[in-house]
Amino acid sequence: MDLATAAGPAVTGGLWRRIKAVAFTDVAVLVSGKTGEVIAGMERALIEADFGPAAFPLLNALESALREGALRTDDHVRAWLADRIAAGLRDGGDPGTLRLDEPGLSVFLFLGVNGVGKTTQVAKVAHRLLAQGRSVLLAAADTYRAGASEQLEIWAERLGVPCICGAPRADPAAVAFDAVEAAQARGTHVVLVDTAGRLHTQRDLMGELAKVHRVIARRRPGAPQEVFLVLDATTGQNMLAQGRTFAQAVPLTGLILTKLDGTAKGGVVVGLRAELPVPIRFLGTGEALGDLEPFDADRFAERLLAD
Ligand code: GDP
Repeated sequence: MDLATAAGPAVTGGLWRRIKAVAFTDVAVLVSGKTGEVIAGMERALIEADFGPAAFPLLNALESALREGALRTDDHVRAWLADRIAAGLRDGGDPGTLRLDEPGLSVFLFLGVNGVGKTTQVAKVAHRLLAQGRSVLLAAADTYRAGASEQLEIWAERLGVPCICGAPRADPAAVAFDAVEAAQARGTHVVLVDTAGRLHTQRDLMGELAKVHRVIARRRPGAPQEVFLVLDATTGQNMLAQGRTFAQAVPLTGLILTKLDGTAKGGVVVGLRAELPVPIRFLGTGEALGDLEPFDADRFAERLLAD
């Protein structure tokens, strides 16, 4: 079934089918009280779907529910699981509402390793802000990678917004500073800062990003209003390691998960959220400007377990 149409991106291919195949070889196992068999099969399916350690609290709770006899059909189990997964992903806030310091200038910082889709998400968020009637300026603070500035400039041109670029090897914090100055002089609403995704060492990169953050905060108290970490959901457990590392270096306000369209490992998102106290704000659902969807925990869980 193609879930990447009206209902949004397909977050997994057939997790529920897999669960049914390994945990419910016979629906009668539920009523016959063979809880152990169901749990063992379920564990296999959840680990395969990359839930990681987040599978175990789910399995424990499921075991209790099964023993209490509350779940008598596989449909009950599916609804129960969707409910539990959604509850673990919900944050109370409104993921799609961008934090703006109005009236005045806001600064959004975008972090993430190369190739996750960071520059594309900068463009998508810019597109979203423009659609809301806000003016936008892009800043290319990845001065290390050849072609990074050019790529952002192409997006800026397509969006019809200005772009401040540093010279190759220029200090990224200085580029961010200049961009904030320029935006202030022009009365722009939001500066979106694209950053480097790779330096000689991870320590250099984290130090650099922390400096960019510090310089922006010093230039404008309260800024950056948003610090987004962009993560490629197809990288599985690697995504968790990146989440931990970036969160230690810079205070994050949200995660943007890309490339969920088509991965069979959507469970990793549950594991990520269980481990990182940072809300998932958007899903990148494709390569076009409009392919950015505010994260909806219930919809995500439903899609994850779509039959
Ligand atoms: P960066 O190196 O992190 O800045 O990554 P880019 O923005 O250059 O994107 C890397 C690749 O991922 C490009 O081919 C993009 O078109 C693609 N991409 C970006 N966002 C998404 C997304 O949400 N879904 C999918 N499937 N591809 C994406």
